Amino acid sequence: MKKEDCIFCKIANGEIPSTTIYEDEDFLCFLDVNPASRGHALIVPKEHYADLYEMDQELLKKAIVLAQKIGKEMKEKLGCDGLNLVQNNDEASGQTVFHFHLHLIPRYNNDGVGISWKPGSLTQEDKEELKALLTPGRPLE
Ligand code: AMP
Ligand code: ZN
Repeated sequence: MKKEDCIFCKIANGEIPSTTIYEDEDFLCFLDVNPASRGHALIVPKEHYADLYEMDQELLKKAIVLAQKIGKEMKEKLGCDGLNLVQNNDEASGQTVFHFHLHLIPRYNNDGVGISWKPGSLTQEDKEELKALLTPGRPLE
């Protein structure tokens, strides 16, 4: 299913151009128009899923395998020194396009790309509280 007014659905439909580096029956991979680094690309399912929570589980497995394959290409062809996979969900995380996508961000030594955080500390209280809260008491779906 496509969603009207979704920019990535429009790219998947061919209504908006993209610099596509890979395509198969399920996915497109195209260059990000505002790249964090040289070669920054997005893996995008052709069908519309807003985010990770909605994403089809079989497609999700394919997406990570595709990231491995394209990541290897990037390492070989771009000679990048590292690779970040980034996947944002909801505004608070920085998601701006509400059609699932996986960022492949090639990294180069001292490139200054800011994917980092200030490390906090996990207190004993946090450990106990979070372990009790997050350990599932049922099979995960
Ligand atoms: P996010 O913040 O995770 O939702 O990432 C959305 C990404 O899509 C951003 O990095 C944008 O630069 C990128 N983007 C938005 N519109 C386009 C477009 N038409 N073609 C390629 N990349 C796009
Ligand atoms: Zn869409």
